[in-house]
Amino acid sequence: MSDDKNLSPFRIAVDELKIDYVMAPIDQEYSTFTGVGSSPLDFKSYDKDIPCQAACPAKTRVPHYIQALAEGDPDKAYRINQEDNVFSGVLGRVCSRPCEDACRHNWTDTQGPVHICHLKRAASDYKTNPPAPLPAWFGTSTKRVAVIGGGPSGLTAARELIRYGHEVTLFERDSMLGGMMAQGIPVFRLPRDIVDIEAKAIIDSGVKVEYNSTVDADKMQQLIDEYDAVLVAVGTTKAVNLKIPGHPENGHGISGLKFMYDYNMGNIGDMEGQDVIILGGGFTAVDCARSCARAASRLVGDKGSVKIVYRRTEGQMTGDADEIEEMRLENIEVFA
Ligand code: SF4
Repeated sequence: MSDDKNLSPFRIAVDELKIDYVMAPIDQEYSTFTGVGSSPLDFKSYDKDIPCQAACPAKTRVPHYIQALAEGDPDKAYRINQEDNVFSGVLGRVCSRPCEDACRHNWTDTQGPVHICHLKRAASDYKTNPPAPLPAWFGTSTKRVAVIGGGPSGLTAARELIRYGHEVTLFERDSMLGGMMAQGIPVFRLPRDIVDIEAKAIIDSGVKVEYNSTVDADKMQQLIDEYDAVLVAVGTTKAVNLKIPGHPENGHGISGLKFMYDYNMGNIGDMEGQDVIILGGGFTAVDCARSCARAASRLVGDKGSVKIVYRRTEGQMTGDADEIEEMRLENIEVFA
């Protein structure tokens, strides 16, 4: 790695698995110098020529990691993903896959897209070693940063700040890391060990963690006084109030977020004989419905049922056709 502190960390060359960070000579040119596209011109080209990579919010180097898999090297494929999108084992299971909608195989409308997301999961599942911390880009800056929240955002920020050479302390209100990945997504969709090992790779890069640490106004002032910077990455944990009779804020029912949190933490009691109606057709609604149905004998009993009520058509639900079919197999009725 170069000692030059002025090098841009976004100019990355990958030579086998050795990472060397070098800067392209002119920002407006293609990154032929580095071998990895990262200039504005590169991204313009991606939009046209590699639409899957352009459609991915993390701009994951999809062709690179699929090629590594095709060459029989899942460790390299995982490492490429790890650089680009941090929680690639997680995303290989729960990403909404905008890359696949953009895949050029869709253009011919013959075989559907390349199964990019499943290939990401394959790289994660077939890698031979657990993920290791990524190398730092810069030496120590002597700056101290407090990150509030140990979910995907806080962990990602912590990882990148460490790579920039800063000292990072992460404050998490619960006794576990992962945030929504661990508490909001049902375990049958995302096994917790996948979250744990990817979070561990970040913590092992040198992040200090204070668990069970709630940050109120006094604590926030203390952090502001003690640290060079404070990053708030607490997520959106407050449910939307629908302002209709029966909404949790009006004393009835339970929000999807709260249900999934309680369910994942084992805090849902029996609802023997009750019917469960879930309003909405997004990912949270589907997760709630399938979690209820999978625990049906305990939660709703033989006499109970789980139904989704959605204001639009079934085709407009966020879940894909496979998911809707799986819901039917789990005896979940959909009224759309
Ligand atoms: S599966 Fe998700 S994270 Fe992976 S390339 Fe596609 S959009 Fe990006």
